[in-house]
Formats: sequence, C-alpha cells, structure tokens
Amino acid sequence: MSNISIKKKHFDAIVIGGGMTGCATAYYLAKGGMDVALIEKRSVCSGASGRNGGQVIQVEGRDELTRDIISKKNSIAFHGKKMLDTLNDELGWDIEYRKTGGLDLAYSDHDENIIKEIIQWQHEVGDKDVEYIEASEVMDICPIFGDDLRGAKYRKDDGNANPFKITYGFALAGIKLGVSLFTYTSVKAIKYENNKAVGVIMDRGDLYAKHCIVNATNAWTKYIFPDYPIVPCKILAFATEQLPIIPLPPAETIIYDREGDAGYREDNNEAYLFYGGSQVDGNIIIGGPPVQLPETMDDHFNEDVYYDDFLRFRTIFARYWTKVENVSLLRGWGGALGFTPDTLPLVGPTRYENLYINAGFTNGMCWCPICGKLLSEYILDGGKTSVPIDFMDPERFSDEVFEWPEKYNYTVLHNYITEKHKS
Ligand SMILES: Cc1cc2nc3c(=O)[nH]c(=O)nc-3n(C[C@H](O)[C@H](O)[C@H](O)COP(=O)(O)OP(=O)(O)OC[C@H]3O[C@@H](n4cnc5c(N)ncnc54)[C@H](O)[C@@H]3O)c2cc1C
Repeated sequence: MSNISIKKKHFDAIVIGGGMTGCATAYYLAKGGMDVALIEKRSVCSGASGRNGGQVIQVEGRDELTRDIISKKNSIAFHGKKMLDTLNDELGWDIEYRKTGGLDLAYSDHDENIIKEIIQWQHEVGDKDVEYIEASEVMDICPIFGDDLRGAKYRKDDGNANPFKITYGFALAGIKLGVSLFTYTSVKAIKYENNKAVGVIMDRGDLYAKHCIVNATNAWTKYIFPDYPIVPCKILAFATEQLPIIPLPPAETIIYDREGDAGYREDNNEAYLFYGGSQVDGNIIIGGPPVQLPETMDDHFNEDVYYDDFLRFRTIFARYWTKVENVSLLRGWGGALGFTPDTLPLVGPTRYENLYINAGFTNGMCWCPICGKLLSEYILDGGKTSVPIDFMDPERFSDEVFEWPEKYNYTVLHNYITEKHKS
C-alpha cells in the first residue's frame, strides 16, 4: 500500500487516526459539508477501538478524583450514552447496544465504603441514576458472582455495544459522504506555516488541509504532539468460549492477587482493576492490567499477552465469578488507552491555528462518538457546541510540567493522578 502515490493532495480537513474518535470526527465533518481525508497507520479499528471490551459505562466505578471531575465526566458521558441510542439509525446498522445495566462490585468493607462514598458524590453532582444494591439484588440481576460478594454500585441503563460496529459504521458512513480513507499510512509530523497547521507529512507524501487538522491518535499522541500530556497505558482483554447467554452486565471491581497467584509479588501487590461483561453471542470478555509492569512508556504499545497474564485472569475469573465453572479463555490481546493528568480528554482547538486535538480517552464508548460529534460542531459552527466542551481545552496543561511515574499500569496511574489532585 505505502508505495502507491496519492494524487489528491488538498482537503478541507485531515483527521489522523482511524479509531472510534477519528472515524466519528471524519464522519461528522463530512456530514457538515467538508472534504475530509482520514489517515490511519494500520487498518481502521486496529487501535484501542478494536480491542475494546464493549462495556458502556457512564462513569467508571472508582473515580475518586474530585466531585468537579465526576461532574464534568458525567456531563459528556451522559450525552455520549444517549447518543448510542441513535447510532443504529445514523449508521444504518445494529451497533448491538444492549442496556443490561452496569455493576461495580464490592468484595470487602473497604470496597463497600469507597463505592458508597462515590455514589454519594455522584448524587451530589446531579448524577442520580446510580444506587447501591445488596448482594442478593446483584444475584437477582446476574447469578454468577462469588459468595463473598457484598453488594455493588448499579446503573440500570449501562450496558454493552459492539465497538467494531460503531467504528466501522462511522468509517463506512463517512466514505459514503465522500471521506477519503488512507489506511497503512502514517503521519510523521505536522507542517506549520508561522503558527498555522497547514498539512501533514506522511510516509506516502504530504497532504494539505484548508480548514483543520485533527489529531485522533489517542495513546499515540506523544509521537506527533509531544507537548500535549497524553500517556499510553496498556490494558488486556480475554474472550471466553461461547456460553449459553448469561445476563452478565458489564461489571468491574478492584482486587489483589493472593499468594501463589500468577501476578502475586510480595514486594508490591497493588490492587488492580478487573472487568468483564458478556457479548450478544455468548462470549464473555474479561480483562485488566498485565502481570508485568511495562518497563517504559513505549512498552505500553506492546500488544502481546503472556502466559502469566492468562493464568492471572483465568484464576481471577474463577475466583470472583465462581458460578461459571470450567470456562476456557480462547484468546487474549492488549491495547493502549490514553491518560491525561486529570483523566479528562483533550478536545478542542490548540495554540496552533487550524490544529485540533480529540484524544486522551480511557473509557471510549460513552466518549469517542460524542466527542467526534462535538469537536465537529465546534469546527463547523465557529466554536459553538451543543454540549459545553471548554473544560476539555487541550491547552489547559500548557503551563505545567507533569511528571509521570516511571513504571505504571492502569491502577498505578489512576492512583498517582488521584494523589496529585488531592495534594
Ligand atoms: C483492552 C481494552 C479494553 C477496553 N475496553 C473498553 C470498554 O469495555 N469500554 C470502553 O468504553 N472503553 C474501553 N476501552 C477504551 C476504548 O477502547 C478507547 O477509549 C477508545 O477506543 C479510544 O478510541 P480512539 O479512536 O480515540 O483511539 P484508538 O482506537 O486507539 O485509535 C487511534 C488510532 O490512531 C492510529 N494512529 C496512531 N498514530 C498514527 C499516525 N502517526 N498516523 C496515522 N494513524 C495513527 C492508531 O493506529 C489507531 O488506530 C478499552 C481499551 C482497551 C485497550
């Protein structure tokens, strides 16, 4: 592919990154009348969007940052989730969105206290649709969890959707509107004239944009825009064999490995996130961080899964979801999320004229489609958006130097950011 030369060089808009965010952004810009080039270094949906567990969770479970951040997250994710209701019609196929409810499971006093406190915070900032339910009520919803379950945070309209259907849906609908898609094409740098972004330098030549260039490379942002603080974070997913359909809503919890487990380390046994949920075809997707902390930031792009990872997640699955016995994990994969210093994405214009960022997503389903739409509104409508996005200003950290921990996983990073915000 890469030695085929590109004849058309000039577009209204260039979107870099063919994940859920880039495909949605390209689609809405094209729908607004722009001539768009969408550039993806591998294939569409090959980044985090194609590695996603499909969980539609409005506000992640243990977000202990501040009420202000919970409130801001909710303001976007609430609309992001409502938008999923409209995507079958918008994209012309079924994105397999099922509202099964969503759970954050408590297995200890500590868990229970944190979850209840966060529910209270959510209520205080107007997010009233979450409640604490006792273990017996959880088992009524889904009877597979272990006997030591205490209860859970529950939101009844969370659920599951198919990230491939969403991402390819936007890509195909965009192509019908005239989007030019360049796959296996990598952007190496941005071309600037004075303070204005005018084009992109790629491994297949250069392209030019009259109105805007949008970075939607999420975890990879640092390679093209090192000044914007988005760091990659590897997370794993595993698919079980197909089971009779179990009504398993997306469920997450925070757990520790026990002595003898594949991930147990006496010197450092950090708590970590474990998540899972069933797909429409009966496979269950589970996941969490890898056993080995990646050595460097770049190692978070290693998408491999190792034997110890399989051992850890098979053990954890059997321990916490004990009513599902003798289930094989068929395959596993890794992918990289994009973390920012306040866990909110960077969405909006930058200090460079015509250059926009739409990246920094951890949770994607309630965020990426709506942020694609909102950023497009901003670009097409002179800075106006149907939902405020100013708090996601990509320049909000421009005066700060943020020191990231040298070695980290999802939980280490999340705790580190939380501590920074408290201090
Ligand atoms: C294992 C795993 C499970 C997850 N589970 C869930 C879940 O259950 N629910 C949920 O809401 N979220 C989940 N997420 C998070 C969610 O998938 C992401 O937040 C979301 O997909 C981000 O989409 P994106 O388009 O911004 O980034 P990506 O999908 O990563 O897309 C970025 C694209 O940019 C391309 N790119 C990078 N550099 C360049 C370049 N220089 N030139 C051209 N192209 C480039 C990449 O190849 C990639 O395709 C999960 C993520 C992972 C990894």
